[in-house]
Amino acid sequence: MSRQDNGYQEALAEALATTDVLQRVAGTVAIHLYQLELRADGSYDCLPWVGAGLERLLGPIPDEVNEEEAWESAVHPDDRGAYDAGCDAVQRGEPVEVEYRLVGYDGRVRWVWDRMHPYHATDGRLLVDGIVADITERREVADELARMQEQLAHLAYHDALTDLPNRLSFQDHLGVAISRCELEEAALAVLFVDLDNFKLVNDSFGHAAGDELLRAVAARLRRSTRSIDVVARQGGDEFLILVGDIPRSSRRPRDAQDVRSVAEVVAQKLRRVLAEPFTISGVEIFVSASVGVSLYPIDATDSETLLKHADVAMYRAKESGRDAYELYAGEGEDALAQLSMAGRLRGSVERAENLVLHYQPLVELESAKVVGVEALIRWQDGDRLVPPGDFIPIAERTGLMARMSDWVIGEACRQATIWRDEGLDLYVSVNLPPTFWQPTAMRHVLATIEAFGLNPDRMMIEITESAVVSDQRPAMDSVLDELHARGLQLAIDDFGTGHSSLSRLNQMRVTTLKIDRSFVRDLPADRSADVVVTSIVQLAHNLGLRPLAEGIETDAQRRFLLEHGCRLGQGFLFSRPVPADDIPRLCRG
Ligand code: C2E
Ligand code: MG
Ligand code: MG
Repeated sequence: MSRQDNGYQEALAEALATTDVLQRVAGTVAIHLYQLELRADGSYDCLPWVGAGLERLLGPIPDEVNEEEAWESAVHPDDRGAYDAGCDAVQRGEPVEVEYRLVGYDGRVRWVWDRMHPYHATDGRLLVDGIVADITERREVADELARMQEQLAHLAYHDALTDLPNRLSFQDHLGVAISRCELEEAALAVLFVDLDNFKLVNDSFGHAAGDELLRAVAARLRRSTRSIDVVARQGGDEFLILVGDIPRSSRRPRDAQDVRSVAEVVAQKLRRVLAEPFTISGVEIFVSASVGVSLYPIDATDSETLLKHADVAMYRAKESGRDAYELYAGEGEDALAQLSMAGRLRGSVERAENLVLHYQPLVELESAKVVGVEALIRWQDGDRLVPPGDFIPIAERTGLMARMSDWVIGEACRQATIWRDEGLDLYVSVNLPPTFWQPTAMRHVLATIEAFGLNPDRMMIEITESAVVSDQRPAMDSVLDELHARGLQLAIDDFGTGHSSLSRLNQMRVTTLKIDRSFVRDLPADRSADVVVTSIVQLAHNLGLRPLAEGIETDAQRRFLLEHGCRLGQGFLFSRPVPADDIPRLCRG
């Protein structure tokens, strides 16, 4: 039985015991009987008073105060309204029952139940027969009972360890939030957060530390979300977050993109917040989390499906190697979004608008001198600058690659002539898809370069290994010879990720091997990355090629590469890809 079930059972037992107490005290209340004569102005005289003295209810009454005054002044201010309303009804001849508090001269507060029954005497006077019962104990028990009931409800809707709402409560909140979104045309996001390797913390530091960590995680999640967001514990090391009220003006895919961006910002923020070390019993513990996101109304419109989709997305994030977030990618909606994205991309490519080239410096690792730049395409889709990984697959599937590549070559050549005229000594490297690996396309590339009046040695062409592998045509050889003779450089991109035949590399007149950034990333600490990179550099030298390392982010990586004979590279350490206008400044240092 879980901790939460335990608490629930205990509270239930206590509540039942209290009900028993209530029944016992019901018989012991002190009762007084009285009769009043009521005058038209509301004042009255108490005729007989039966039962224990008034002191039982009011404490010792000072001599100078009469009993009626004492009673009236004892009525608790908060109950004055109810009491006066009762008196007015009696004045009209209606019988009433009122419960109110009396503040005694001894300072004690007592609850009374007062039943007043008015009637006219034969001589016309308005008389009231009344019963007053001291119900203080009963009220206290009832209040206690209400408190207990509240506590029971809290237990049923909260997680005992972290005091966050539990899944049941989250579902209620989600249901309400969805109804509100329907009315307000708003969107919401459900985030499913799962800690990576929590079991490890439990196993190595013990369960008490595990519990403390979960409480600390809960507190951080709570602190880093808005007060209107709901943070709940689903169970174990899993948390749920409801981000409500994301504005949405319609259901068009553009808005869907906006909603996604908001959710992504939250997901990234949560992961960042959790990445800060936790100090648990004096020990620093590092935690990472996998986050799955589903969106209303994009992924689903009911709470159960939204939760399911967020769960699925979270598992995707785990599969992708943990410490990541993932948006739910439902087949239907995704296909639809891609369809309209493909339509807009076609428009852009056909009209050659909204396509942009950014340039990343290729540098000498020793001096950081810029010797060339790689042209990297971006697509301006509305106000989003889309990276190539997000639209090149669509361009490939929809047959847009050839036209797009033509634009890239033309634009890169145009820019290269500008830089040449400005006196910058650099070459421009262009990525081409595998389909360009055939004689006609390559002749066309060469013709374009010459049409711009550029010397081919100002250009480099990057082609991925897969294109090299698929090439079986000796027809390419004469074109390659020609390219080579004119000084055009040829690079194999992402080298090390495919399976190229070494003898082909030689025949292909390749000049440069670009070492894939997945190897560089793990340098210098990772042993196998070390071996792969060292061998590629060796191989390049043996074949008379220049190695160029991609994705250099740290100076340690730069130094490792230099020490192992790689003299060229690119990466965020030197510069991110930037607009063309920024290049002259970077070249001049
Ligand atoms: P790529 O040709 O291997 O380009 C290098 C990619 O690595 C670029 O991503 C660049 O921004 C990124 N990068 C550079 N330095 C670092 C670093 O230090 N750290 C990290 N993490 N990343 C770094 P980008 O621009 O998103 O391009 C992705 C891929 O899209 C390119 O990989 C290339 O295969 C393709 N691509 C880009 N432009 C074109 C194009 O005009 N035509 C074709 N066919 N493919 C293109
Ligand atoms: Mg490239
Ligand atoms: Mg590459």
